[in-house]
Amino acid sequence: MVKNDEASRKSKPKGRGSVRKVNKDIVGELLVQYFDEISEALGLRGLVIDEGFQRELVREVLELIVHSTTSKPSIDVLLRRIKSNRRSINKFISAKILESTDKFTAEQLNFILSYGEEAVIPFISEIYRELIKSGRSELIDALKYVWEKYGRPTLVQCPKCGFRSIMPDYSCTICGYSVTESYVREQLSFSALFEEYVRTASISDLREVLDAGFVIVSESGIYSPRNKAVSSLKAFYSIYLVGREISLIISEMSSREQEI
Ligand SMILES: [Zn+2]
Repeated sequence: MVKNDEASRKSKPKGRGSVRKVNKDIVGELLVQYFDEISEALGLRGLVIDEGFQRELVREVLELIVHSTTSKPSIDVLLRRIKSNRRSINKFISAKILESTDKFTAEQLNFILSYGEEAVIPFISEIYRELIKSGRSELIDALKYVWEKYGRPTLVQCPKCGFRSIMPDYSCTICGYSVTESYVREQLSFSALFEEYVRTASISDLREVLDAGFVIVSESGIYSPRNKAVSSLKAFYSIYLVGREISLIISEMSSREQEI
């Protein structure tokens, strides 16, 4: 083996580009030699029906796990590397499947939801629609788990799909449903939060809120819209104040002025 490599290096002294080429050559040889074993080890048999796509996946996984540019690893070494990198390889395969199709088989959906992790998030609304359309509602909880762990769960749960995914514009990023401001208020327990805020905010904050006519509600509490912290908040809702809330601010301000 070593001799062959030396010979090929001597015959092809191409500088930088050649390193990559040799690697590709090794990957190509391994692909021909061990396609069945590796495809089996990756669990692609039941997962990807199209043989061309299976080949593409095996090739790309080989490119990830073949480090040497000069010698060809044995099948045992390859299988060991697959085993020890299982999590990232499964995530990689999930991402490739997600990119390649929008019609998933039951096996693919199970695989993607089990191993896709953050790779699922850009496709989450498509997957949700697919699950509803194909009547696989038993997988919705698994999808919800992925959203909670790797997505951007918000403070307000969508009444239609049940995900915590109502965005600042009151629409659901998963199913597209839109809610009203009064629904958002209720979900946030806004009245109680607001009363607490009025009791504890500074006079200048209260004055700003009164001028603006609305407040910002985020996971970390209520803010005046002019508060500098607002620009760094991840998800928040603008809640416009009603008459009684404006009166509450005015009476709080006047009672504090009397104390002084
Ligand atoms: Zn929804």
